[in-house]
Amino acid sequence: MWSLLPVLFSFAQATFITSDASNVINSSFEFIIVGGGTTGLAVANRLAANHTVLVVEQGQDLANNEIVNNPFMFAAGTPSPCRFSMNSAPQIGFGGTRRSLPLSYGSCLGGSSSINGMMGARPTFASMNAIEALGNPGWGWNDFLPYMQNSETFTPPNPWQMKEGANYISVVHGYNGPVGVSFSRPLVAPLLQRIAKKTIQTVFSGEVTLTPDMGDGFSGGHVSSFYYQIHFNKTLHSDRRSSSAWSYLYPQKQQRIGLTVLTEHMVNSVVTSTSASGKITATGILIEPTTGGQKFECVVSREVIISAGALHSPVILQRSGIGNATFLRDVGIEPVLDLPGVGANLQDHIGLYNTSFPLAPFANSTNITAGTDVLTGIVVAQPTAQDTLGLEDAHAIENLLRNTSGYAVSVSGVVNPESLVAQAAVIADAYQIDHPFIEIFFTPGSVSLQVAAHTILPLSRGRIYVNATDPSADPIADMQYLTSEVDMHVAVAAARRISRIAVTPPFSDLITKNALDEAGVPRVNATEEEVRKWVLDTYVSDIHFVGSNSMMPKELGGVVSPELLVYGTTNLRIADASILPLSVFPHPTLGLYGIAEKAADMILLTARESSGYN
Ligand SMILES: Cc1cc2nc3c(=O)[nH]c(=O)nc-3n(C[C@H](O)[C@H](O)[C@H](O)COP(=O)(O)OP(=O)(O)OC[C@H]3O[C@@H](n4cnc5c(N)ncnc54)[C@H](O)[C@@H]3O)c2cc1C
Repeated sequence: MWSLLPVLFSFAQATFITSDASNVINSSFEFIIVGGGTTGLAVANRLAANHTVLVVEQGQDLANNEIVNNPFMFAAGTPSPCRFSMNSAPQIGFGGTRRSLPLSYGSCLGGSSSINGMMGARPTFASMNAIEALGNPGWGWNDFLPYMQNSETFTPPNPWQMKEGANYISVVHGYNGPVGVSFSRPLVAPLLQRIAKKTIQTVFSGEVTLTPDMGDGFSGGHVSSFYYQIHFNKTLHSDRRSSSAWSYLYPQKQQRIGLTVLTEHMVNSVVTSTSASGKITATGILIEPTTGGQKFECVVSREVIISAGALHSPVILQRSGIGNATFLRDVGIEPVLDLPGVGANLQDHIGLYNTSFPLAPFANSTNITAGTDVLTGIVVAQPTAQDTLGLEDAHAIENLLRNTSGYAVSVSGVVNPESLVAQAAVIADAYQIDHPFIEIFFTPGSVSLQVAAHTILPLSRGRIYVNATDPSADPIADMQYLTSEVDMHVAVAAARRISRIAVTPPFSDLITKNALDEAGVPRVNATEEEVRKWVLDTYVSDIHFVGSNSMMPKELGGVVSPELLVYGTTNLRIADASILPLSVFPHPTLGLYGIAEKAADMILLTARESSGYN
């Protein structure tokens, strides 16, 4: 019989990455992190500077896989060994039809940051204040910005990139963090960049203006070149993906002797004990090889942190008996903690991507099409509600938001109508202080130019829950896309702006005369019914899942406190996209690194306090 061996700092000089469970069986760690993805590896890096940490990741270690590391493979659509997908429950379509949508996620070291589009967007002042207003002191923009800065090393554009249209505001960035954030070298398609920016300003009658930097917290009503989670590698002389793994785990500077990473193993559940007062304490986790086999336990002495992403973290809680007790009993899981918000409040942006306009015969210069090295979304615009709809219709949306209770009860993803009413109110407030309403971005291709759009602050709420017949199979994800009338209005407005851009010079000069018809996008004078049909027939998941373990007061269906502690537990935290109660990150990754840095700070504070040397 093995004894429990506390892992000591002395047994290795560097981070230990292994897929062999015998290296960890019967070991004890101060911290265990479930999921070696975007947030999980960032939290692990910070904690392991002074503590023993185990990360368990169900995917592989793909450190030297070129498909993962070359940023240009994403826009080229190359299938990645790290990319996985599950089908949503059937979602709303036109005329009462239903369709399932693929929901993609990354599963390897780095998680979704190893497969994503690397677009470097941040939340805004208005959106972080909305998060704080939902009952989360300490999460407003001014408190949150330093954590995003801690995570990044921003490379300012060089004079050549600036001449081509890149720009930045120095004080909003960080310069010593692990994640590389920069413009591509050379800047992709500079001529298209200029044309896209000019067209946006025309389409929005000058209300959407050029900003040097979308990351300054006030991006509503602005357009600019996009920066990415990439860095320039001088040896290879090329841009590289700055995934979480290549930022927080692999580099020499980030080696941690206290850190063990077990790959190709999935965490089945958290092992808990219950005190006489009813408080739950995590004592370890139950692990099994991803390919199947014997389950075994690893013991924790301080905390378990779940960072398995918004599609998986709630399901791990449910398998551990933490969730809606009635539901858990129905599916044969003995509840240990009744927490109805687990898996509820699930949100995603919807994307309108069926928008590739054929290039005009003469418009084939490398400047426009970018040659072979393409990144997604080279120019991004974030208009406000008023920019998008005009004053009167923006008021109408505000009224809809402020009178939300009427349809709250019909939305299945919220724990109670009060929760949706509270969320709708802070969304309405955010729009009033110029929160972006939609995002539009331009992507060059070799035969077409794409003008995509996605929504930013949806009100529709879905839920995700364990598969009753096989709890270790893919969970059931009922996204409830576009079930809120507010979201439908936003999507229609976004579609109309795409059509308008396609007929407005100078952008329209680059595409064929019948580009709208050829792309199947509604004409500018299409009826409301026609635009709704197109939206409902073509919308896709924008793969920005959040909310399924929301940080909110428990009465509103919250799962974690502002300290990210699961309500009713002493030492179980969640640090990933699932804790965001509102979908305020236009593209989540840079904000998620901020969440990871803040989580680590709070966890380390607790550790210091409990050790009595604060
Ligand atoms: C195709 C795609 C494109 C995207 N494009 C962009 C973009 O351009 N810009 C942007 O900012 N964002 C983008 N996103 C979104 C962004 O990448 C994610 O929101 C973010 O990476 C999620 O981080 P996370 O830490 O919550 O989860 P993840 O990074 O997904 O990490 C979760 C990890 O947990 C592991 N895991 C899950 N269950 C278990 C288990 N039971 N046991 C052990 N391990 C487990 C998974 O394998 C995974 O590695 C994109 C996402 C996708 C999928």
